[in-house]
Amino acid sequence: MTDAGTLEAAQELMRSARRVVVFSGAGLSKASGIPTYRDADGLWMNRGAVRFSHADDLARNAAGFSRFWSQRLAQVEAAAPNPAHLALARLQRLRPATRLITQNVDGLLGLAGCHDVLELHGSLRRWRCDGCGNRRGPWPLKRCLRCAGRARPDVVMFGEMLDEGVLVAAQDAVLQCDLLLVVGSTAVVYPAADLPLEAMKKGATIITLNAEPIRHVDVFADAVLRGKAELLLPQLLDGIR
Ligand SMILES: [Zn+2]
Repeated sequence: MTDAGTLEAAQELMRSARRVVVFSGAGLSKASGIPTYRDADGLWMNRGAVRFSHADDLARNAAGFSRFWSQRLAQVEAAAPNPAHLALARLQRLRPATRLITQNVDGLLGLAGCHDVLELHGSLRRWRCDGCGNRRGPWPLKRCLRCAGRARPDVVMFGEMLDEGVLVAAQDAVLQCDLLLVVGSTAVVYPAADLPLEAMKKGATIITLNAEPIRHVDVFADAVLRGKAELLLPQLLDGIR
């Protein structure tokens, strides 16, 4: 757990930073009841997740695919932002230059009042046409009104590339920042693994806030906070005016 001295030092780093980037992962939304890929009891571990998390599954079994993703969507729609999301919205109000990058597809940062969130893996709250890329509904019988193609969630599935525009914007934000805060992400998958390193090379201050150690980032971080995002994040941002 994090002692008072470490928290105070991290608070001071936050207060003196001018351009902050917050990179968040599943740990940010855990208190909102969103299961993670890695949680052993999470919905991702059931058979549906294995059968329908690949983009090719849409053509193979469209009905099963729609049912599976509609359930995921219902789960996200039932969730509300927690104090960690709200703390980041407050940070953006006080420091408008703050950029938010997330691996989460639950849309909870936007719901908390955050703006211009760079969603690396897309959003479960949107559908898009698998044929023409149209993102505008309605979707009668899960079909696109423009081209009759099949509707799919606007998320990056296994075997798919990240959206280039979002990725470039995220990299740009990281290269411009003077402080990178990593929250609730183990930062192991690309590009999460690279961004902290890039920020560090540019001379940015690095703070990690995670329930588990993320050794490959913690080793060069200026402050390491260990604990739950919904408890520690509001405390970390407490002194910012
Ligand atoms: Zn279409």
